Amino acid sequence: MELWYTEKQTPSFGITAKIRETYVTEQTPYQHLVMLDTEEFGRMLVLDGMVMTTVKDEFVYHEMVAHPALFTHPNPKKVLVVGGGDGGVIREIMKHPAVEKAVLVEIDGKVIEYSKQYLPEIAGELDNPRVEVIVGDGYMHILNAKDEYDVIMVDSTEPVGPAAPLFERGFYQGIYEALKEDGLFVAQTDNPWFKADLIQQVNRDVKEIFPIVRVFGANIPTYPSGLWTFTMGSKKHDPLEVDANAIPEIETKYYSPRLHHAAFCLPKFVEDLTK
Ligand code: SAM
Repeated sequence: MELWYTEKQTPSFGITAKIRETYVTEQTPYQHLVMLDTEEFGRMLVLDGMVMTTVKDEFVYHEMVAHPALFTHPNPKKVLVVGGGDGGVIREIMKHPAVEKAVLVEIDGKVIEYSKQYLPEIAGELDNPRVEVIVGDGYMHILNAKDEYDVIMVDSTEPVGPAAPLFERGFYQGIYEALKEDGLFVAQTDNPWFKADLIQQVNRDVKEIFPIVRVFGANIPTYPSGLWTFTMGSKKHDPLEVDANAIPEIETKYYSPRLHHAAFCLPKFVEDLTK
């Protein structure tokens, strides 16, 4: 019998993947966690019915959370990741020798545990000595941090459940205060096809707090609509002023020095959401 996993991306639209094997189906204290092996995208982590990452396309998201931000800041020594318990963003951060310490604050210890077990190619750097893993609420961590981080990356679930506060104006204000005087942050901000309102709202909120706000995009086939956005808020450094010729080559599959600028060229209907 064929088994298929379907994510309802909206109440009336979804995507579906043929399952090879199901490893975990568990209600954690925070969310419903499923770890699958799919025929097309390989192993897949699903939280509350939403695809979080797959072995085949994870590199796009993780590289684009990490590298545009880290190559915009001239000396990112201390980095915070909120969420991101699968470890993919941490793996990319570890490619930057300037980073002395990366702190990961993930609310759900089960995401970390199962990612290490079933997604070792993604989670492999979580035990790097430059990484501190905290199982806790990223919102509270941000509210308690002052003038501490060079770069903050918000690698959260969609704005439901424990991640809902991570899309509020107060959270972005907390991020501003947790950053050093020339710090910057990047957050995943969902897709322009089904979540246009969210992108507009985040953009308005972040613009009230940060002097430099830029939105960029990436193609991620297993995320709703396939077109994903990221919002960067910065106190001083502008990603558009980065000299692409000065970006050192690192091992990547999606990000490149040329793409650094290209990613900020958005389709017109997406650009209009950020005005
Ligand atoms: N790349 C994914 C996407 O955009 O669909 C998200 C990756 S997933 C690893 C995001 C993680 O954020 C989840 O493991 C979830 O447990 C965590 N998370 C949600 N709310 C959180 C909070 N308040 N503090 C810390 N982590 C949180």
